[in-house]
Amino acid sequence: MKMFIAGQWHDTDKKINVTNPYNGEVIDTIPSGTPEHVDAAIATLVEGAKKMRRMPAYDRSQILRRAAGLMKARQDELGRLISSEEGKILAEGIGEAGRSCEVIEVSAEEARRVTGEMIPLDAAPGATDKLGFTLRVPCGIVAAITPFNFPLNLVCHKVGPAIAGGNAVIIKPASDTPLSALKLTEILLEAGMPPEAIACITGPGGQLGEAICRDPRIRKISFTGSYEIGEMICRMAGVKRVTMELGSNSPVIIMDDADLDKAAEAVTATGFANAGQTCISAQRILTAKKVRGDFLDALKPKVSALSYGDQLNATTRVGPLVRENDAKRVESWVNEAVGAGAKLIIGGTRHGAVYEPTILDDVHPDMKVSRDELFGPAVAVTSFSDIDEAIHLANDSAYGLSAGIFTQDIDRAIRFAQEVDSGNLHINWSSQWRADLMPYGGLKHSGTGKEGPKYAIREMTEEKMVVMHLKPR
Ligand code: NAP
Repeated sequence: MKMFIAGQWHDTDKKINVTNPYNGEVIDTIPSGTPEHVDAAIATLVEGAKKMRRMPAYDRSQILRRAAGLMKARQDELGRLISSEEGKILAEGIGEAGRSCEVIEVSAEEARRVTGEMIPLDAAPGATDKLGFTLRVPCGIVAAITPFNFPLNLVCHKVGPAIAGGNAVIIKPASDTPLSALKLTEILLEAGMPPEAIACITGPGGQLGEAICRDPRIRKISFTGSYEIGEMICRMAGVKRVTMELGSNSPVIIMDDADLDKAAEAVTATGFANAGQTCISAQRILTAKKVRGDFLDALKPKVSALSYGDQLNATTRVGPLVRENDAKRVESWVNEAVGAGAKLIIGGTRHGAVYEPTILDDVHPDMKVSRDELFGPAVAVTSFSDIDEAIHLANDSAYGLSAGIFTQDIDRAIRFAQEVDSGNLHINWSSQWRADLMPYGGLKHSGTGKEGPKYAIREMTEEKMVVMHLKPR
């Protein structure tokens, strides 16, 4: 595919291959953009931003509504594309395409609800005869830098609110999975998006990132990806608005009064979906000593039943990792943990880019499989004695994106919600669950700011305070 910059589809001599992670087959190529392309794209977006700022909210909403309709009609095609470039199984690809459509639809609704606030200035001392209100205005140009693992939905979580808030937008998709974002750009143009107000530039982040993030014409950066790149972007951004949706190593606490079958079902569903490459994958399974054996007995057959292999085969439940090197990294972390005393319950073998669904027990919190973000199809089980230790272990992480607890005790559940430092907290489900309309974001190294169209629009608009100094009555 070509990239879309300066109001047109554009190609370069230098190309990047986009491959199917399962077999390495080249499915398409994309241009390798340069900082000069970024400059040209932004120059046009400056004009596009003026157009968007003047466009009535109704018209912005209609563009998004039409785009959602086109996406719905092409859900299966988009789903297959997502699975082909990213490696998630077909059901998950089609599911992601459906969610993406929902994000654009909710953004269309929220576009009609961008409001300011009346401020009761006469409640301030000496402010008689003053009338105040706030106005929400677009930021101008929003940069959307996105990761490989949800190549359509996470782009929609930035582009939908950016348009709803009246901005122009430049998308920089992950180089491993750029095709879904380019398809979305096609759809938005078909739905009536002004060509000068949208760009989708492809090429290595290391090469384009600085040109995008340092450019003073960009007012807002919305980034989803790793902590390391996020931190680098914050340094480059200077005085700009930034939203950072970063990584995690999510804990799930299984108390001694948990419904163990439900907990095992949840850990199976959420530790291995997208081959564990979800920012809120269940990774650290903290289990009360008293029920550890029973929990593992419930978990093992469920995880053993997950078939693995070609993501486009309808019976596969766990596909490949996005790159063979990531599968090798997961393999080495698991081997390192086993070498240091962890027990391999099942799995632990790699087949190219596919890593067998794996359960590790007796994991020490300092092992990499627990301490760092694993981003692979393995869960690390660690035991605890009581709720104090469980909360301590859950918080013993640089990250804080999502956490879950299984318990029948309301006091323990509320204590978990109050004391675990995490942006999302689930009671009687694991860390991995998201409705696209809810406020979503992390604490600590998991980032700053919120997504969910209503909340992202707040971050992609600026607030002006207007004070009217009326004649004294
Ligand atoms: P990544 O390596 O950080 O890349 C993310 C994006 O940043 C890609 O588009 C990448 O481009 C670009 N990039 C690379 N270097 C850059 C630079 N110097 N300046 C600006 N941009 C640069 O992340 P990933 O491996 O794709 O995704 C996995 C990570 O995303 C995990 O940590 C995961 O937890 C996190 N994530 C978080 C959330 C959330 O909501 N909190 C959701 C999903 C994923 P290239 O691809 O061209 O290098």
